[in-house]
Amino acid sequence: MVNSRYEYTQAMMGTTVSLMLFEPNDFVVQLVFKTINQLEDRLTVNRPISEVMLINNAAGKHPVRVSHAVYSLIEQACKISLMPNSCFNVAIGPLVKLWKIGFNGHQVPNSDQIVNKRSLIDPNDIQLDAKSCSVFLKKEGMEIDLGAIAKGYIADVIKEVLRQNDIHQAIINLGGNVLTVGESPIDSQGYWHIGLKKPFSSIQNELVGLIKVKNKSIVTSGIYERYFIQNHHLYHHILDSKTGYPLDNELESVTVISDTSLEGDIYSTLLYGFGSIKGCEYLKKHRNLSGIFLLKNKTIKLVNPDNFAFQLLNETYQIK
Ligand code: ADP
Ligand code: MG
Repeated sequence: MVNSRYEYTQAMMGTTVSLMLFEPNDFVVQLVFKTINQLEDRLTVNRPISEVMLINNAAGKHPVRVSHAVYSLIEQACKISLMPNSCFNVAIGPLVKLWKIGFNGHQVPNSDQIVNKRSLIDPNDIQLDAKSCSVFLKKEGMEIDLGAIAKGYIADVIKEVLRQNDIHQAIINLGGNVLTVGESPIDSQGYWHIGLKKPFSSIQNELVGLIKVKNKSIVTSGIYERYFIQNHHLYHHILDSKTGYPLDNELESVTVISDTSLEGDIYSTLLYGFGSIKGCEYLKKHRNLSGIFLLKNKTIKLVNPDNFAFQLLNETYQIK
């Protein structure tokens, strides 16, 4: 067993990114952070220019040809958005920018503003052309937002960068999107122990429990990371295309355990929107994915627990 860990941390993508290795390797560390920067430059919608912003700025005017990688991510995001009853919507951008949740200037918009933006978020109005790798948003004012999946996609690319550089044991953490590579050299059975944060805790990094996995991704979508409170009401950052308001249900968070971080990112958002009952049913039919649902009534539901182990650390929560 190895005891030395080398942890590298940088503030990026509006969050903290960290990489844990078990041998020092400056070349790989630099390559990893450079790769994350390059991918963020292509995918961000929080700066005036990126490949995605080129598409958004041409909305209602003309199609935009993008790189193969960006095209294929948008194509996947469109597929998920067009699934029946999907609350995942890659065209949600205008509403995200209206609410500004997690950014300076967040606000509860008035109903006219919401009605106005809701006419610009139909994923059917995204036209894709695979041959030319081009994307056209049919209405002026439409905006693609990859905020729910960009970190997952980037984490998977980083895992591949590590593999190509012969690193087979590591943890990549992109602000809560945790991707474990291989088996842990610290644990005698090779499990990585990943903390599941207690929502809204006043103690920094207080945990509900530990998730134990090998070579899996762990992604959580919840209402407690980016939100604001106004007139005793909590407004969080996962929005409901149907109402234009934050999705409202019985969940504090959903954690998805999967092979790739992109799947984890897609399904954590999607299952959050399904809610715990429909979400559990969905997972039971998709046994390659596992889930941990934290409910506001402090119960925990574990689904498909053959892909992970869970150790409860906090007695305010109960596994049901
Ligand atoms: P986090 O960014 O905290 O990891 P998520 O993966 O759940 O959380 O993604 C939330 C982000 O996704 C929002 O900040 C916004 O950019 C975008 N988003 C909000 N609502 C939706 C939605 N219904 N479908 C797809 N993306 C959304
Ligand atoms: Mg997500």
